[in-house]
Amino acid sequence: MIVNYDDQEHSFKPYEQSYDVIIIGGGIAGSSFAIRISQLFDSVSTFKKILIIEEKSKNLKTFKVGESLPGEAKPVLHSLGVLEKVNNDTIQGKHLFCYGNNSVWGSNNLNGINSIFNPYGNGFHLDRLLFEETLLETLESQYGHIVKVIHGFNVTRSDFQEDKKFWEITISKCSSLNDDECEMQKKVYGKILVDASGRRCCIRKYMPSLKRQSFDKLLAFACLFESAYLNGLKDNDHHTLIEPCYYGWIQTSRLPNNQRIVLFFTDDDLVKQLPRKIRAVDEFVEFLRENSFNINKILKEFDYAPIKNRVMCMAANSEVLSEFASIKNQWIALGDSAISFDPLSSQGILTALYNSKFGAEATFFQFFYNKRPKGSGNKSNENIDDNIQPFDIYTDKFTQILNNYKEEKKYFYNKEQRWTDSLFWKRRHFE
Ligand SMILES: Cc1cc2nc3c(=O)[nH]c(=O)nc-3n(C[C@H](O)[C@H](O)[C@H](O)COP(=O)(O)OP(=O)(O)OC[C@H]3O[C@@H](n4cnc5c(N)ncnc54)[C@H](O)[C@@H]3O)c2cc1C
Repeated sequence: MIVNYDDQEHSFKPYEQSYDVIIIGGGIAGSSFAIRISQLFDSVSTFKKILIIEEKSKNLKTFKVGESLPGEAKPVLHSLGVLEKVNNDTIQGKHLFCYGNNSVWGSNNLNGINSIFNPYGNGFHLDRLLFEETLLETLESQYGHIVKVIHGFNVTRSDFQEDKKFWEITISKCSSLNDDECEMQKKVYGKILVDASGRRCCIRKYMPSLKRQSFDKLLAFACLFESAYLNGLKDNDHHTLIEPCYYGWIQTSRLPNNQRIVLFFTDDDLVKQLPRKIRAVDEFVEFLRENSFNINKILKEFDYAPIKNRVMCMAANSEVLSEFASIKNQWIALGDSAISFDPLSSQGILTALYNSKFGAEATFFQFFYNKRPKGSGNKSNENIDDNIQPFDIYTDKFTQILNNYKEEKKYFYNKEQRWTDSLFWKRRHFE
């Protein structure tokens, strides 16, 4: 049987700050989920309230890593109502088109996969913050009657009230916010809690039985470069380039405004053994010179110099949450909070988009709409098993994605066999 709120003995008691759905995190997963579930609420003309809590303040102009989005994302971008804007922004040079991947994986030969052979066509090298802004703006302009987004607040505590069947959530003002926005701390109440908090995966703090399993220790070091065009040559490359080395692997993509991002991936316990202290920009540049042929060549040819005086460092390991959703405790995890992928897969944003869409549909049919399509002459509908729960279907989908991902990861790392005495590669060959 599908759980329907209105049928429940302990139906939700309205409080001043009560919502049907509360989403932690206004990144890609949180906003995609909110757009899709708002579309569904609108389609049945039901009045519901959604709250997104995002700790970053609205006009924060920082840089966010994670730029490559394959063409396979186009159908989901279209269904979320943002494809046209992303395309137009790309034509105006605010994002860049990506025409495929090049790599020297497994040998010194440069091999490429061109998007001309992809039925979905080109992908994108995104200005990541602009892309996230586009999703949030679409949400606010089209579904502002359903969704409220609070920026600059951090979810610091969430408790599920088992007897009353709602979440009590404490939010605190982040220090970077303007003072006129609100109090330091307040409580909000929600029927369904959606964890879209990324790798931080807040839900595991509130549900002690949840565990997050890590499969490796991958760490990323990222540095942003800008081309000075001293020699008059313009970098027109539209591919992601991947180049492995003894200590891990290096990736680069061109970004808008004559910029390039270069990322180096290795294991966190191997950083001490690197020949250079790569947290320092000049050492990072030297490390690239010594350990990459193709990427270093591009940096030299187009006079790229580091923009900022720092190398960003972040976790990039594969991790999975022990459960993806709970009917009993009324929560669902999306995007990186549920599964974090190795960036080699370039799967993070794509999966966050698709799974948040499925997650929204599962939540809608699990808790807010229990009418099943009637037979209407279609025999297959008469055989629908009422015991199949939408949240179970969501969990099965995510489990399938995880299993495929593990196989693919093993396959790709095993294709690189040049450094058999390197601990980084040995670990991945025996996974
Ligand atoms: C180094 C690196 C490179 C990558 N490159 C690519 C790539 O090229 N292509 C690709 O597809 N994927 C890439 N990924 C993966 C991709 O970035 C993620 O899969 C994607 O960001 C997942 O989106 P999300 O919305 O689940 O999480 P996030 O993007 O992490 O969003 C989570 C949001 O929640 C907010 N938040 C967290 N905690 C709280 C709290 N307590 N209260 C309020 N708000 C909170 C955060 O501020 C954030 O905005 C890369 C990842 C790494 C580490």
